[in-house]
Amino acid sequence: MGKRIVIALGGNALGSNLPEQMEAVKKTARAIADLIQDGHQVIVAHGNGPQVGMIQKAMAELTRSEPEKYIPCPLSVCVAMSQGYIGYDLQNALREELLNRGIQKGVATVLTQVEVDPNDPAFQTPTKPIGAFHSPEEAKFLIQNRGYQMVEDSGRGWRRVVASPRPVSIVEIDSIRDMVEAGLVVVACGGGGIPVFQTEGHHLKGAAAVIDKDFASCVLARQLEADTLIILTAVEKVAVNFGKPDQKWLDSLTPEEARGYMDAGHFAPGSMLPKVQAAVEFAQSAPGRSALITLLEKARDGVAGRTGTVIRQA
Ligand code: ADP
Ligand code: MG
Repeated sequence: MGKRIVIALGGNALGSNLPEQMEAVKKTARAIADLIQDGHQVIVAHGNGPQVGMIQKAMAELTRSEPEKYIPCPLSVCVAMSQGYIGYDLQNALREELLNRGIQKGVATVLTQVEVDPNDPAFQTPTKPIGAFHSPEEAKFLIQNRGYQMVEDSGRGWRRVVASPRPVSIVEIDSIRDMVEAGLVVVACGGGGIPVFQTEGHHLKGAAAVIDKDFASCVLARQLEADTLIILTAVEKVAVNFGKPDQKWLDSLTPEEARGYMDAGHFAPGSMLPKVQAAVEFAQSAPGRSALITLLEKARDGVAGRTGTVIRQA
């Protein structure tokens, strides 16, 4: 029986510049097509760190060169641009890979907005550096004129920092579900989604924030009532004592075990910790749900239970 699977793609699935991405999406498309070929319903979410960084740097150059003419696009617009660019590459790579295997299936990207809570404590202490490095003079200008929060980054210059709030819900969830149920392969929640606030009436306002793609993928999987959340990254399994002589790879974890290891500091914040947190949250959201963390190239083996770290309730 085919499962409904939400896949969260990490940085290694897309590379960090244009030529790398052109190559990487081919390998990524093979991994995703394997699961589709095995009869699963697949929804693809992905990160966007290098891509949104590139767009932001281009914006900084544009406004530097002609400050009278241009104001930089808000971060929410930059995230939307990155979803479009990455969705375009993924759509094409998947289309080609599926046709090569004789599979007739539409692939479509949904520009996805994700609601965040204006009272999320993350807005009090923005921590996520984004975009270009600036001189002290430019930093002063941006703080005074645009209200940015800027921090000095270890002698390399000044960078804007933004909040990383938790995703609350996915605005386009009904459209995504309809497309999945119509048999399409959907790319959604790119870069964790375009963060938005509810305002008066039906207006949504873009937030100057970035959402972690691991958490957004968890919300996507929960709202779609998926069977499995697969987080594909640069390691085959989750480890305790990662990078130390007594490192041990884990085949499976219960939410309770995972929480114990989290409290003991085994998972690095900003990399493995959000994945394990998202996996635990998904595994606990309903009976029978499981999460898998593994290497991009091992997705099929992981789903078949041959590798990766599975998080599920005992
Ligand atoms: P992605 O782009 O896929 O989100 P990240 O770099 O954010 O990738 O997170 C994956 C990385 O987390 C791995 O490549 C590994 O270097 C690191 N990591 C940190 N702690 C652990 C751990 N306990 N077990 C395995 N990997 C870990
Ligand atoms: Mg990451």
